[in-house]
Amino acid sequence: MFADVSFPISSYQTFSYKVPKVLKEQVEIGVRVKVPFGNRKAQGIVVGIQKTTEFKGKISEIESLIDNQPVLNENLWSLIKWLSEYYYTPLGIAAKVVLPANLSTKYKPKNQLFVKAISKENPLFKRAKAQKAVYDYLVSVNELVSVQSLNALSSNSTSICKKLATKGLVYLEEKPIKPDLTRLAFNPINKKIRLTKHQNKALEKMTNAMDNNSFKPFLLHGVTGSGKTEIYIEAARHAIKQNKTVILLLPEIALTPQIAGRFQAAFGQDVALWHSKLSQSARAWTWKQICEGIFKVIIGARSAIFAPLKNLGLIIVDEEQESSYKQESIDPRYHARDVALMRGKIHNATVVLASATPSMESYYNQIHGKFNYIHLTERFGQAKYPQVHVVDMMKESEETDIYGGIFSRLLLDRIQDRLEKKEQIILFHNRRGFAPVLRCNDCGEVSMCLHCQIALTYHRDGKYLQCHFCNHTQHTLPSKCDHCQSFNIQLSGTGTQKVEDELKVKFPNAVIERLDADSAKSGVNITKVLQEFSEARINILLGTQMIAKGLDFDNVTLVGIINGDTGLYLPDFRAGERVFQLIYQAAGRSGRGRIPGQVVVQSYSTDNSVIQCATQLDLKKYYNICLDERQRLNYPPFSWMIRMEIRGKNKSAVEQSISDLNQRIKKLPKGVEKLGPAYCYRKKLRDYYRMQVVLKANKEFDQNGSKVHAYYKSIIANNGGLKLPGNLRLVVDVNPVSLL
Ligand code: ADP
Ligand code: ZN
Ligand code: ZN
Repeated sequence: MFADVSFPISSYQTFSYKVPKVLKEQVEIGVRVKVPFGNRKAQGIVVGIQKTTEFKGKISEIESLIDNQPVLNENLWSLIKWLSEYYYTPLGIAAKVVLPANLSTKYKPKNQLFVKAISKENPLFKRAKAQKAVYDYLVSVNELVSVQSLNALSSNSTSICKKLATKGLVYLEEKPIKPDLTRLAFNPINKKIRLTKHQNKALEKMTNAMDNNSFKPFLLHGVTGSGKTEIYIEAARHAIKQNKTVILLLPEIALTPQIAGRFQAAFGQDVALWHSKLSQSARAWTWKQICEGIFKVIIGARSAIFAPLKNLGLIIVDEEQESSYKQESIDPRYHARDVALMRGKIHNATVVLASATPSMESYYNQIHGKFNYIHLTERFGQAKYPQVHVVDMMKESEETDIYGGIFSRLLLDRIQDRLEKKEQIILFHNRRGFAPVLRCNDCGEVSMCLHCQIALTYHRDGKYLQCHFCNHTQHTLPSKCDHCQSFNIQLSGTGTQKVEDELKVKFPNAVIERLDADSAKSGVNITKVLQEFSEARINILLGTQMIAKGLDFDNVTLVGIINGDTGLYLPDFRAGERVFQLIYQAAGRSGRGRIPGQVVVQSYSTDNSVIQCATQLDLKKYYNICLDERQRLNYPPFSWMIRMEIRGKNKSAVEQSISDLNQRIKKLPKGVEKLGPAYCYRKKLRDYYRMQVVLKANKEFDQNGSKVHAYYKSIIANNGGLKLPGNLRLVVDVNPVSLL
């Protein structure tokens, strides 16, 4: 018996291996194996089984299996095959996102040494002071404690405990330590909930679908504060009752603690969290237990959509419009929302895409009857929509004669008012760091990253310049302009650190905390700050998009948006949609409890339709404007896109190759058009120049995208692939979320 094995390499080729007799029973399609590969050992996945092989050379044997139980069922295997085909990724690489290389069901938590004192009268220590200290402590606690926890008493606690053991004074025991999985959840949040009539109706539609065991996608469009989270919990309860399992996807780590706290109050130990801040051991341990069927509900980020749950009945994608659901940096460049729909289809599961601000795609799909639409139009209970005030910062500057100020008079006044009333405030500013650019006042040149076409941001703590794309850091600030040698250079623009500084000066008695990617390096800190804010121990929470959506604090009665225009003028077709959603969502954090809320939006573009609709909270109006525009320009959701990018270190080689690629795109099928070739807006990233050509297929001619996919294959694959010289690479991005 022979197995075809695929590896996580950028080749579609598979390799033949002999299956040893002892493994015959266990080797099947989808099993991970360890095999010799060249002169090293590699992990691969079995993608085919053959009785004979045509291969004439020397054939090696499979050495061992990675898992001690099957983790892939037929359903997950179908999903991997779909990922591979749809996103043009070799099977071995597609398999790796579902079965990450560092996870295995063979994982065992590490053992740790524990110790307990055996009480003796007058034990003799002579001059061994450290032994005496440790012993006295162990007698006083009189229970089994980890030896590691004694490190505060003594630097070499292991050897001291061993010495004590040979004297018969302590008892030692090795025990596995389970990784701490609790650090990213609030304490369980218990609430008395009786769903309202509207909420119940929404729930019923979902539970009916679950009862029918047929794939049914929903768009749950519920305004901010309409109780979507409560509906998720009841829907999950229904699934669990039927012995099914549930995946809840969240777009942002900051949303996890609160929602996890609600879920854990409802389902206790049946809930597991899956996100980037888990330690490697916590990740391995969680994954093994998922494979063993211990958990019923997985809450997590993008990659949680691949959790190997059996009997999956319900998938919820919260804040489904978020672009963080798209994997952009490595292959396969999948969108977790699309994977959720595909996985739901394969498992006959119910899929709920939910948001107060749906993506244009889902909104369009709902209009065209592809999704079942559930619309919750009211906030729960007495909570009302907040009142929104727009401050024209141009006028503000003229009237106060202060240009480029951070706070308007209105915002300062409202903050003061809330502080006096002991109500809470969220301030939102979507730029981290202190100042986003260092600019020359004479020639206008901006300090750029050496490796990327991105301006360096100045950070106050540590006083350094950093690239927010590649993290390149420069510790010395230039004293003159690189371009014209002028000394007249200046930090300009505003980041969250600068807002924080100024806030502290203006409100010295307020408790202020900042949450952004810099302050939230560890998951623990995010949980701590949000927990303290929910207990009203913090007056003002300042942050980036991290805190703009999903969070529920009923004492927040003021939301301030420092610069509503951030991102508005990026040359990307989704720029407007993003800004609208951010403002609308951020506004939705205000007034969720008994006391009505207010929102202050500061803007330099008060005439802009995005700003106007967002501040009027008029979603329908904006979505109609936006859809009209997309239709006119044939952008998604009216078209399918395939983006082909060539990247490489040598600029002229990149230019040559993109032009060669462009030569192949000659006779475009009806309804398909081409953008480019052109440099990407971010022309250079991590030393790689980037050029792209984009295919756009109008859905009227290409309903499900099959035509444009076939055309893409004909120009790349059927033409003997694209032979690229040297270190050049072709990146294929199917349905990109951005063209930057
Ligand atoms: P959304 O996710 O739609 O923004 P949430 O689920 O966070 O809304 O609900 C807003 C607030 O109202 C939460 O504090 C939630 O616990 C509360 N709530 C919603 N529905 C109910 C209900 N039926 N009974 C009691 N409290 C509810
Ligand atoms: Zn200059
Ligand atoms: Zn960089």
